[in-house]
Amino acid sequence: MRLWKASATEEFDLQEFNAGDYAESVAAKNTAENITMVLYPNDANENGKALRLQQQYLLTSASLQDVIGGWIGRHGNNFTNFAAKNCFQLNDTHPSIAVAELMRLLIDIHNLPWEQAWTITSQTMAYTNHTLLPEALERWPVTLVKQLLPRIMEIIFEINARFLAEVSAHYPGDMERIARMSLIEEGHTQYVRMAYLAIVGSYSVNGVAELHSKLLQQGLFKDFYEFWPHKFNNKTNGVTPRRWLAACNPELSQLITETIGSAWITDLSQLSRLKAYADDPQFKQRWREAKQQAKQKLIDLKRRELNIEFDHDALFDVQVKRIHEYKRQLLNVLHVIHLYDRIKRHDTQNWTKRCVLIGGKAAPGYFMAKRIIKLINNVANVINNDPDVGNKLKLMFLPNYSVSAMEKICPGTDLSEQISTAGKEASGTGNMKFMMNGALTIGTLDGANIEIREEVGEENFFLFGLTEDQVEAMKKHYDPKAIIEQDSDLQRVINLIECGHFNRFEPGIFDPILASLTSPQDPWMTVADFRSYVEAQKRVEHAYQDKDLWTRMSILNCAASGKFSTDRTITEYNNEIWRLTPIKIKD
Ligand SMILES: *Cc1c(COP(=O)(O)O)cnc(C)c1O
Repeated sequence: MRLWKASATEEFDLQEFNAGDYAESVAAKNTAENITMVLYPNDANENGKALRLQQQYLLTSASLQDVIGGWIGRHGNNFTNFAAKNCFQLNDTHPSIAVAELMRLLIDIHNLPWEQAWTITSQTMAYTNHTLLPEALERWPVTLVKQLLPRIMEIIFEINARFLAEVSAHYPGDMERIARMSLIEEGHTQYVRMAYLAIVGSYSVNGVAELHSKLLQQGLFKDFYEFWPHKFNNKTNGVTPRRWLAACNPELSQLITETIGSAWITDLSQLSRLKAYADDPQFKQRWREAKQQAKQKLIDLKRRELNIEFDHDALFDVQVKRIHEYKRQLLNVLHVIHLYDRIKRHDTQNWTKRCVLIGGKAAPGYFMAKRIIKLINNVANVINNDPDVGNKLKLMFLPNYSVSAMEKICPGTDLSEQISTAGKEASGTGNMKFMMNGALTIGTLDGANIEIREEVGEENFFLFGLTEDQVEAMKKHYDPKAIIEQDSDLQRVINLIECGHFNRFEPGIFDPILASLTSPQDPWMTVADFRSYVEAQKRVEHAYQDKDLWTRMSILNCAASGKFSTDRTITEYNNEIWRLTPIKIKD
């Protein structure tokens, strides 16, 4: 592991200081140190700031120079075996400038001819894509790259010229295809398409769940898949069972280890041995108690942090993840408002008490995400202070969501909300953390949800919503207003928002949310999945009322989570991409 930091070559300019200009005397130092002062947050949104390009270049160049420096120390200027012994896995497009930077280092600094440098580069780079959302794809204006990194821009143009010559040799006269595949997007402003640079410079391109990898091949990177099918593969994400079960959930971990031994900690497939205990009344009793203890810890924590009381028998229904329209926190809120509406209409026979927890950060400039948080808080304020509602329903926005927050949240969760519009969530990893901790999932056929459902069986997963194909097909004739008109429950929910029930002293603040929900252009199709979601939530309530059934399903979810260990993921990266020889670790 290398952590890089930018620092000034000279502390400050004594002459400027003596001339009385303090700010100017430290300007160079500040400019340099700003580069690694703060890291841009990871979010499904690209914001194209020059500082970010400077960060990307500094970090990749430093890493490449470090590796090359080590190589030269051992092999001198002989790069013959460099590609066989080194691999750079590009984690999204953020470090993809490395393709051009490695070329620069090999050609300009180490005097290799272009052809040899390109063979080495394109046999050492491998690229992992993390999103299909077009708004997240990095594109740098050619003018910016020219200004900050003139030599890198020249090299990208040369890579592109040689690449497009190959494409046109393969598809003579197909000018549209050549324009589509160019590393340079033409138009009023020219852009460098960083994902394409990563693909052209890599020997492996992967997505992070089966559906995502398939959609890359059929959609976003179709032309490249047709040209280089052998480059494309899938590596379904995982989460580490050391953090996400052994360390964060001592109650459940102890019970698992007492039952099947401790080998699961380094071989998560062993969890499948828990299946044999899914109908053992004594084991089920202990499982229920362990889940209940974890839940009580979460209740105590939220009482201390937020001064709110949750009922320990209530269904803990949790959606924690970055706030984004595609993740559809809005669909969750519409359901909560629907439950509130049912309570107010006294439609509460066989009621299942529910605590809905929603948490997550929004990018500072993402207006709709911020407004969704505001809606959650306002709806919570009305529901939590209504004596008619009492402990039947609670809604809480959890502020400051983070990894350490998740370590406390996932052990105490009953129901995991994975409700993105089908085709939009590349994989998801929150879904895996919850499953490992014995939560049941309500979810769409999206990202790794599909593989979670395959592993656990459809009877142990609450599926709803349009498929990715159906979402695409519906786009042409999507009419949310007609859907609302035909569903009286949804009509009442929309009416409650429209009439200002949740913003009595803040007129109009939820108009942008209503406009997006009711727009035929809504890419997230929230309204289209409302009815199916409500019906799935009814199946959840039915299952939760049968404690024995719920416990069985909880055990089976944990037992089927073995695939979602990072150990399995990393083994696949190694077997199929890096091809390193693993080192035996002594016990
Ligand atoms: C796991 C995790 C995520 C990813 O969650 P998704 O539901 O897969 O989007 C994001 N943030 C934090 C803090 C996490 O722990």
